[in-house]
Amino acid sequence: MPYHNPNSRSRRNVLRIVGVLVVLAVIAGVANFLHATTSEAAGNVKPQIETMQGIRQTAQDSITFAQGLDDPDRFAAHIETVQQCMDDYDRLADAKQIKYLLSDNLQERIIGLLYRNQQRTIIDSMRVAAHNLDGQTKELLSAVDAAMADDFSQHAAQWLLQVDDPTQANELIDRYGKQRAYASMREMLADLRSLHKLRSDVKQQVSTAVSNLHNAEAAAAAIAVPERNGDLDPAGWYTLATNVASTMGVQIEQTMEFNCGGQSGENPSGFVAAYYCQMPDRSQRNVVHMLTTHPDWTQTARSPWLVDMVKHELSHRSIMISCGTTQPTIAADRTEAVTNSYSVLFFGADRDRITNQQQGVAEYAMDASSDQLATAIHDGNCG
Ligand SMILES: [Zn+2]
Repeated sequence: MPYHNPNSRSRRNVLRIVGVLVVLAVIAGVANFLHATTSEAAGNVKPQIETMQGIRQTAQDSITFAQGLDDPDRFAAHIETVQQCMDDYDRLADAKQIKYLLSDNLQERIIGLLYRNQQRTIIDSMRVAAHNLDGQTKELLSAVDAAMADDFSQHAAQWLLQVDDPTQANELIDRYGKQRAYASMREMLADLRSLHKLRSDVKQQVSTAVSNLHNAEAAAAAIAVPERNGDLDPAGWYTLATNVASTMGVQIEQTMEFNCGGQSGENPSGFVAAYYCQMPDRSQRNVVHMLTTHPDWTQTARSPWLVDMVKHELSHRSIMISCGTTQPTIAADRTEAVTNSYSVLFFGADRDRITNQQQGVAEYAMDASSDQLATAIHDGNCG
């Protein structure tokens, strides 16, 4: 009698289902394993590759920064070297083995598993290339830093005297004065960028100060000055001179003896009747001095010559604000004559009165050349 199992059909079905489930489980297991394995492979190197990509980005940004500076040709050799190192790095980073490794696509990552040894070799080479790239970026940024420091040491003291508000110029001086150390090239780049921005702001403030200066000069020149001594009383002359100075934001100080920094006593035979003192700390920037002990003071104080004298000292100041020094290179050894010309051309000082008062003092004598030099300075050419 044939063995009859009424359940055999359903049992076969059950076995079939179990078989299918086992196959599915195996597939799922393999898939999970592959997913985990490939993710792990990528996960191990991803942070390293991200760090290297960061180095590459900083290198790229450093090139862009250097190219945006004045005269970027100075850095051409450094830029080229960084670019070469970046190309070396990119060639490695673009390898298909690395692409498979980092792919979001599981299939590609599985293919990537076939290249594990090659990936390790390429990543080792990428590490070397990124290290070189970082080193060359440092060379480039150090060259930029040195160029900026040169420019700064040549000009910062002048900018400080030129600007109307010294806050940012002082900040720039403070920051350059501090020892600067950087934990990374990204940090160095960020600091150099912000120093460069600050420097641009200060230079803009210098331009603004010069244009404010020219407007104030025009206003001072427009103040009418009577011609004869008797036209005003001594208080009137002094008030007029004070008005001319205050139009420039300058105070007149009556002084008993010549004293500009350490140069006190350098007034042979009482020659100096008035002076403007260029001090590095700006303390004298907006002051002109009248020497009341000068033998001619009583006479001067009762005449329009007082106003011409103030305008001469204001011209020293204007030249300093324009050029960062009362003795710009372009004036060479004719500073006083050029200053006189400046006072005539831009403050409306009286040429004949000046010539008359200063007869025989060659150093102060104006001519076409001193007028030309004063105009050049006013136009922003300091030599
Ligand atoms: Zn002078």
